[in-house]
Formats: sequence, structure tokens, C-alpha cells
Amino acid sequence: MYSFPILPGATLGILGGGQLGKMFCSAAQSMGYRIWVLDPDSNCPAATIADRYICAKFDDITALELLAAHCAAVTTEFENIPADSLLYLSTTLPVSPSAESVSITQYRWGEKSFLRQHNFPTTSFWKIQTIEELSNIPSDAFPGILKVSRFGYDGKGQIPVSNASELEQAWNNLEHVECILEKKLKLDLEISVMVARSHTHTAITWPAAENHHKNGILETSIVPARIPESLANEARDLALKIANTLNYSGILGVEFFISEHQIYINELAPRPHNSGHYTIEASVTSQFEQQVRVLCGLPLGNTDLLCPVVMLNILGDAWVSSTPNWEAILTKPGTKLHLYGKNEPRPKRKMGHITCLNPKLENAIEYIADCCRYLSQEK
Ligand code: ADP
Ligand code: MG
Repeated sequence: MYSFPILPGATLGILGGGQLGKMFCSAAQSMGYRIWVLDPDSNCPAATIADRYICAKFDDITALELLAAHCAAVTTEFENIPADSLLYLSTTLPVSPSAESVSITQYRWGEKSFLRQHNFPTTSFWKIQTIEELSNIPSDAFPGILKVSRFGYDGKGQIPVSNASELEQAWNNLEHVECILEKKLKLDLEISVMVARSHTHTAITWPAAENHHKNGILETSIVPARIPESLANEARDLALKIANTLNYSGILGVEFFISEHQIYINELAPRPHNSGHYTIEASVTSQFEQQVRVLCGLPLGNTDLLCPVVMLNILGDAWVSSTPNWEAILTKPGTKLHLYGKNEPRPKRKMGHITCLNPKLENAIEYIADCCRYLSQEK
């Protein structure tokens, strides 16, 4: 229907101008594309580097028409884009990922049900939308985690519950919005696999990342994950199978839990993922360059790892008493600093990240632990 490839020199659009949008802009611009960004927040990180920034809501018809008129293709960096906006754009230009994929992955119940329906391994889960559903939860669901079905991120909208009365209290606290109760797993490890899948159904993955969270927020990703090869292959095969089953086009992040030697799918992200930021320096092709390639119908790039790597997120908490000691961080061998240009360092807000490359993974882990101490301002 559309004519591919869309070659450098063309204008591409992106819905969302957060850090993922900014890194997409940089990758696309360095390949010779112009980028238009739509985001309602005029302080968003991508606004300053976009060739054109449109300040409007994601469902603003005039803004969407402007994108449709000037862009050769549109992508997104944010799963909570109204799927109808993607659908609207897709009537006149290529859009990846599709409205359908985004609508499944932006709705926790829809996403988990999709996985269960296609026999992908997940933890047990129940929908909680009514008092009846609340009272029908079996006792073996506990300990569990109550999660809002929509708009949750970085552990927000999640409450651990250990029995029926705590569950009721938690649902009251969440003001009876639609939720999912998930059985809590004893986690040995969390990993993620990024997949890129093209319009013509070619797919490729990057090596699995080993992810460590603090307070429900990703803190570090270690690559390659320190797991048996058989487990890494299993995760890769599952991630590819999910992308195929969704008939996905674009970059897909698949988060996994490893519990008692079993692998479970936690959640999907229809966009580049925080655990894939390491690909900017450590992979032949970054997740952002690959997003451009998929969108434009260009050949997928090689995803080989050039060097073992550790990524550390920088949260707003690091500014608690003063500006972090960037010099100390940059003194560590192999470190790269990324700051997203957000003006207010609020606690838990992702402000940037540090990547540390080292031929010996243990060294990168040690240097990142030092950076982590500098950020928490321990001497
Ligand atoms: P978010 O959308 O905020 O990333 P997740 O569902 O990925 O939400 O949960 C955030 C983190 O909370 C996970 O990475 C994991 O550390 C922990 N967690 C979430 N669900 C479970 C579960 N069912 N069992 C054990 N830990 C969980
Ligand atoms: Mg998650």
C-alpha cells in the first residue's frame, strides 16, 4: 500500500517527546531525516532538538492532520498514545507500531489476556472491576500485587497485598479503577529482550539484559545477562514468538521474570525500552536507529554486542542535596553520560542514564556501583 523505503531527507513524525523520543530524534537526524514531534508538554526533552515541535494533545485532530500532511511516516515512544490517533494517521501514512498492537499493550488486562490466550507463560492474574470480582479472588492468589489496568509505569499504581482484606483496602485506595491482581512471584532474576520486527516480518533481537529494580523502578541493566545460554535462547524465542503473534511492526520490549527456574512474561512495551539504552554505545545498531529503519522500511541493522556493558538510571533523587558529581562519574573508565534535559529533578523521575563499557563485565559492574554511590552522594 505504501512505498518503501522512505529515504534520508524525508520527514518522520513521532508521538511523544520524552527521553525515548529525544533519542529517536538524535538517531534519525544523524541518518539525515527531519523529525516532527508532537507532545502536550512544551518542556518535553525532544522539543529542543526536533526540526519542528507541535505542542498539542495526542488526540488533537489539527495537530494530527499537520503530521499527516508533512511526515512520510509516524511512530511513537509512549504506549499511552490514544490508539485512535494512530489509527487515524494510518489511513494516510505508514505508522509503526500499529494502533492494534499499541491498544493491546497499553491495557494491562488486554495484554495479559492476549498472552494467556496464546499460551505464553505468565503469573496467575485476575481482573478486578466489580465488587463481585473482588470477592471471587481465590486464597491462593496471595501474596499478590494489585496493579491498575491502565497508565501504570515505574511501579506506580501498584500495591502489594497479602490477604483479601488488604486487597479490598488497596482497591479502595485506587478508587475502584479497573485493576489486575497478579500473584507475586519469588523472583530469582528479571531479564528483558528487545525485538525489532519489520513491515515485511523480518525480526531480530538484541542479547538479553539482566535488570535490577529499586522501588519498582529499573536501576541497572547488565548485558549480557548472566544466565545459562538455554534460558537466554528461551527468552529470545518467546520474544520473537510474541512479536509474530502480534504481527508487530516496530521495536518491542519484552520483560521477563525468572522464578524457581521457570520463565514468565511480565509485560510488553511497544517502543524502545529503558533496558535497551545500552544499545546506543554497545551494539552495532541501537534500538533507536532500528526504530528508524523499521519505520522507513530499510534493512534491519546488525544487533551484535560490541562490548559488555552496564547501564545505570539517574533519577531526580540524585539532586537531593546538590548537583551530582559528574566529574567523578566521567573519571570511571568507559563511562558515558546521558542527560535528557528535564528541568526539574523530582524524586523517582528519570533524568538520564550512565552507560559503562568494559571488555570485562565485572569491571563495568564495579565502576557502575561506584557511580551509583556518587549519585546517592555517599562519599
Ligand atoms: P511497570 O509498568 O511499572 O514497569 P511492572 O509490572 O513491570 O510495572 O512491575 C514493576 C516491577 O515490580 C517489576 O519489574 C518487578 O520487579 C515487580 N513485580 C511486578 N509484578 C510482580 C509479580 N507478579 N511478582 C513479583 N514481582 C513483581
Ligand atoms: Mg515493567
